[in-house]
Amino acid sequence: MKAHRAILIRLPRDRCNVDYIKRLTALTSLAYRGFEVWVPDLPKTIQHHLYGFRNFKGSLVFGTVPKRWFASTWVPLKTLRFYPDGSRKGGRYAPVVLDFKSSAIKLYQVCRNERGYVVEVPMPRWVVDRLSEGGDVKYAMIGLKDDEPYLALIAEREVEPYIPSDYMLAIDVNAWNNGIAWGLIKSSKLVKWKPERPRLREIDGLYYRSVVLSQKYGKLKRLGLHKTKEGKGLWREVRRLRRRIYAKLRDYAQRLAHRLVRKALRHRALVIIDDIIEESRRELLEGKLPSGLRKIYLAETRRFVKLLIAQLEWYGVPYRFKRLPSTICPICHHELTQLPGRIMVCGNCGFKAPRDKVPMYWVLKLRCKMIEPEDEDCPHR
Ligand SMILES: [Zn+2]
Repeated sequence: MKAHRAILIRLPRDRCNVDYIKRLTALTSLAYRGFEVWVPDLPKTIQHHLYGFRNFKGSLVFGTVPKRWFASTWVPLKTLRFYPDGSRKGGRYAPVVLDFKSSAIKLYQVCRNERGYVVEVPMPRWVVDRLSEGGDVKYAMIGLKDDEPYLALIAEREVEPYIPSDYMLAIDVNAWNNGIAWGLIKSSKLVKWKPERPRLREIDGLYYRSVVLSQKYGKLKRLGLHKTKEGKGLWREVRRLRRRIYAKLRDYAQRLAHRLVRKALRHRALVIIDDIIEESRRELLEGKLPSGLRKIYLAETRRFVKLLIAQLEWYGVPYRFKRLPSTICPICHHELTQLPGRIMVCGNCGFKAPRDKVPMYWVLKLRCKMIEPEDEDCPHR
């Protein structure tokens, strides 16, 4: 099985011609749709490159669902790699050269339409780490994100998922206000359970400050004064605050995904994921929160799942998606009633647990169906 991971590297804007990159992405977009347009003033190698990729429809670059942050028009580029031991791989005319000996990445003719034009950026630690894990960077892409030039590197690695031990790691993905709960299960016991949340007070604080400022801005707008220095300043501050909220959540999602993957690796666990964010959405709607905050609490949760999957696959951690309801009794399947403090109780059999822990009981109940039959704790299957 081939596993992939990607990284985005910001390119120096002063060394890149944004209009040129825009043009390349437009041509790529046409190539995607099966058109071939030969532009007289573009280097032939770059154009050959673009249409050459059409023969790689099954490859990572063409014909697969692009990652969210890669617009479908990013320009696919081959790479030439010079490894630390002196060996090398890749095409001679590859526009991206990864030189591990001098720890530099060189981009040929994709940043500016000028003969022999090279942009050099330092090799990120990330690439060296992937290489040390047996990965290789065969493909790269160049494109624009928020009008800034970026290089995306895609590491590829051949990997077989390991045979899980008697550990399971259950991950229940909710909106951020309730967080992402994980439970470590060994044989038929729940060893550890924990809901993980970002610093909500900080997120809420930033959100409410942005609300106050945008109300002030609204007042100015009604008076027709929003184009004044004060109005513009307010708007900038609102946008800055929003960006900070999303950056914080993104960063948190990234760190949490990494931590959970490490945990799974340490125990050679089988990972069970419940990513039904719909249930969280409903719960949020019932919670009478302002709609802006609801949106924030759901932001980056999908991305968390994507990051998690990418890393689980990269390290060969076996995983499965499983619906783990938190409103149905895992003992007798009755509907659970919610008490204050998000405690769930069953009116039928008396089962009682915190809402975020209920999914873990479901894993305990279902685990015999999810693992190998040799397990001695699962005699009646
Ligand atoms: Zn029950």
